[in-house]
Amino acid sequence: MPIYEYTCKPCDRSFEELILRRSDEDEVRCPRCKGRKVEKRMSRPAAARSGGDGGGAAASAGCGPVG
Ligand SMILES: [Zn+2]
Repeated sequence: MPIYEYTCKPCDRSFEELILRRSDEDEVRCPRCKGRKVEKRMSRPAAARSGGDGGGAAASAGCGPVG
């Protein structure tokens, strides 16, 4: 599904918009302020956002004998 992520400049708020046609891109408005000063982002939420960064980088090569 062609869902694009937009960011409203005045609100500094990101939202997702379903774009079915090319002309829809010109009519994208912020759901909050109804403004048209939105910027399309390249990254689109294709998959679920759950998860995030793993954290816990245990890979350390260098000084000090470990264990
Ligand atoms: Zn807005």
